Amino acid sequence: MLLRRPLLVALSGLTVVAMTMLGLAVLVVPVLGNRLETYDGMLRSLQDGHIAMLNQSTGLRGYLITREERFLQPYEAGVADQRAVDAEIARWTDVDAELAGRLTDLQTAQRRWTQEWVRPMLAEQPEVGDTTALAELLREDKALFDPYRVMEAQARAVVEDRRAEATAQQQRALYSGALVGVATAVGVGLVLRRAYRRLDEQVVPPTQEVRDALAALAAGDLTRRAGESGSAELRRIAADVNALGDALQDRDELVAARERDLVAARDQAERAGQAKTAFLATMSHEIRTPLNAVLGLTDLLLTTQLTEEQRAHLETVSGSGDSLLSLINDVLDFSKIEAGELDLEAAPLDLVGVVYDVAQMLAPQAARTGLDLLVDVVGDGPWQVLGDGSRFRQVVTNLVGNAVKFTREGHVVLRLTGTVADGRLRCRLSVADTGIGIDPDDHHRLFRSFSQVDASVTRSYGGTGLGLAISQRIVRAMGGDIEVESQPGVGSTFTVAVDLPLAPASSTGPTADGLAGLRVLVVDDNPTNLRILEHQLSRHGAECVLAGSGTAALQVLGAGTHLDVAVLDLNMPGMDGDVLAAALRARPATADLPLVLLSSSTTLPPERYADFDARLNKPVRPERLARTVRSVVPTGSAADATGPATPAQPAPDGRPLRVLVAEDNAVNAQLMALYLRRLGHECTHVGDGDQAVAAVLHGTYDVVLMDAQMPVLGGIDATAAIRLLPLARQPRVYAVTASVLAADRTAFLEAGADGFLTKPIRMGTLRDALDEVAPAPAGAAAAGPEPAAVLDPDTVEDLRDLGDEAFAHLYTRYLATLDDAVAAIVAAADLPSWSVDDEGSVPRLAHGLKGSSAALGATGLAEVCHSLETVDPAGLVLADTLAVLERERARVRAAVTTLLAAGGPGDRDGAGEPPTIEP
Ligand code: ADP
Repeated sequence: MLLRRPLLVALSGLTVVAMTMLGLAVLVVPVLGNRLETYDGMLRSLQDGHIAMLNQSTGLRGYLITREERFLQPYEAGVADQRAVDAEIARWTDVDAELAGRLTDLQTAQRRWTQEWVRPMLAEQPEVGDTTALAELLREDKALFDPYRVMEAQARAVVEDRRAEATAQQQRALYSGALVGVATAVGVGLVLRRAYRRLDEQVVPPTQEVRDALAALAAGDLTRRAGESGSAELRRIAADVNALGDALQDRDELVAARERDLVAARDQAERAGQAKTAFLATMSHEIRTPLNAVLGLTDLLLTTQLTEEQRAHLETVSGSGDSLLSLINDVLDFSKIEAGELDLEAAPLDLVGVVYDVAQMLAPQAARTGLDLLVDVVGDGPWQVLGDGSRFRQVVTNLVGNAVKFTREGHVVLRLTGTVADGRLRCRLSVADTGIGIDPDDHHRLFRSFSQVDASVTRSYGGTGLGLAISQRIVRAMGGDIEVESQPGVGSTFTVAVDLPLAPASSTGPTADGLAGLRVLVVDDNPTNLRILEHQLSRHGAECVLAGSGTAALQVLGAGTHLDVAVLDLNMPGMDGDVLAAALRARPATADLPLVLLSSSTTLPPERYADFDARLNKPVRPERLARTVRSVVPTGSAADATGPATPAQPAPDGRPLRVLVAEDNAVNAQLMALYLRRLGHECTHVGDGDQAVAAVLHGTYDVVLMDAQMPVLGGIDATAAIRLLPLARQPRVYAVTASVLAADRTAFLEAGADGFLTKPIRMGTLRDALDEVAPAPAGAAAAGPEPAAVLDPDTVEDLRDLGDEAFAHLYTRYLATLDDAVAAIVAAADLPSWSVDDEGSVPRLAHGLKGSSAALGATGLAEVCHSLETVDPAGLVLADTLAVLERERARVRAAVTTLLAAGGPGDRDGAGEPPTIEP
């Protein structure tokens, strides 16, 4: 709109200029041009007429003077020309009055000269010599010719006048045209300039304002509006922008309202989550605390003398309690993971160690079903990584546990492989079984929580359906995943693939040594295990001869193959390992061949391994296998025999620990006291954190077992307070908590706790924790919940007949020398070489201890000593025997201590008085 008028003006200006040009072209050029041409023609005709007159006059004068006829020729030509000019002039009709008058005067003067002078003169001339008459004639001629000249000059002047006028007219037209053009251009220019100025004034500011308003809206200032000024269009645009602003503001308010609602909902959900977490903590505490008592007291009851029926019932209670506990643990674990409470550690972790630990832990369970549980570590590692060991162990335990649970026959193979790249170990752990398998249609349900493939009411396998869900979440949190491959009736393979950073100082695995030069016969019906054993042994330098059955082994030996040692599997179809061993012993060539037994079963009747030099349980760690094989081969067999590789046993200190139990729950406190007494430690009980701090200040305690939730002062605060006490030696503080929440544990650690014991505490866990502080002291019930009669009751009874004093004296002396005697044997076993005759040799020392032990009824210990008596200095199965010796020592010490403390007669149970639990 604003531009329309200036544009129209400019357009009309241009039209004017164009029309002017056209007008000039049409008018000036032809009309005025023609007129000029006419005047030019007239001038030329007048000129011609004048020349014709002069020709006539000159000719006539010549004739007059000479009377020669030839002078009449110019005259006649002049007359003819004159006629043509006259005809021309006669055509000039469209001339003005003045010019017409002049022309008439001109023609009149010509006619007078012709009629009054020329014609009379031609009719009658004076005499040639009559000069006077001639002169008179010529004077008459002049008198008539001169007026003609004047008229001619006047006529010419008038024509020139007219021409000049026409030229002036043409110039004027051109000038005025140009003037009109320039003026129009200037006018248009002015109009346009004004239009632009108006544009600047009326369009730019409102446009800028609209732009500013839009920019402000875009930047989030939703209150900004544009002023509605300027032209109609701009006002409309501004109005649109303002409407947009209104809409945005409305939307913003809506969004803000929704956000408020969402924040409120989130806060509520967080509160609900916190409530759930708190509920979880409370529940875990509330359920685990009574369960603690149930399981603990059941364990303790099982160590007492019971009828078969009572024992069976109690074992059912214990089993059910265990299932309930694992169920609660699973549920709590899952809730914890779901609540985002899964804090993964990144501590040094030995993958191979974890795999073997789990395999060995579940091996007895596998053996009960008759399964082979095999570990195959492919490659030399390094297997030291940074990760959360306990969570990784949980995953492996779940997978192997499932594999064992769902396999009735065949084997379960744990295979660990890994490749190193960029300082990380890309490791894959597969657990393959030959069990019932899973239908492909059910694979997707495996990792769902609370989902079991066999969901029927009469399920034949227990479980919560949480194990795999938890495992998958743990592995995913570690940045890996679990895959499954399975066919019903064929078996399943679960594979954990995870990428973990290598631990800073990871070793590159064991080097091939120790067994160099040895030829080992390996007999096993399971090809996988055969391959694994070959791999393990050859990594240590041995050369393996493999046989898939007893018969095949006998064939190999029959062919005269030289062998240094044989490793035999126990259960094989056709011929069992012990039968093969007996057969080998019967043949002169192999009667002395060192034999190592590999069995899945941990409880074997002794006659089955009578022919073996050493016995190992499957799965066996490579180092242990190599060490054992090395130790049964007499020195000299191998090129670089180095003697028995027996690790040094730590010298037991034997001092009972002083343990402070801070626990408000009376039953738990009592249970803990019973445990500690049974483990041979001293126990003091306090009921709250305040008392615990006071007790630590005034007494010397090695260990404090600190409950978390207690009246007056809670466990966390009490731990912090203890850490601030000015003590010569701070006790070790174990937080005893039923909480599974990482936050609670962190708070305890920050307060200065050294470790955790999760309720319900089992005696084994407590023993392990206290063993960290000091090795199992005197009186420790190291043999587990059902100790056999450590001291033969009949012998003890016989000795009592000597009288109380002598009885006490005997046992006290025995006790005083026991630890030293065992320590001496352990030290002797560590010597690089010795002979049977040495006073300080293992057989001699063992012989001495055997005598006193047998005399005092410590038959188990005497038996161990007996086996040590017969060892040969060249290398033997010392490590295991020494471990048994150590265990027996602890058991005997505990039993004797209790015996001496009880004192009175009638104590038929050599292990001491069964604990009684006051209500
Ligand atoms: P559960 O505690 O019931 O074992 P899991 O989550 O560990 O829970 O396993 C879920 C289900 O997956 C099991 O109930 C079983 O049906 C199936 N499953 C897991 N592992 C195996 C396996 N190795 N062989 C066959 N079925 C398996």
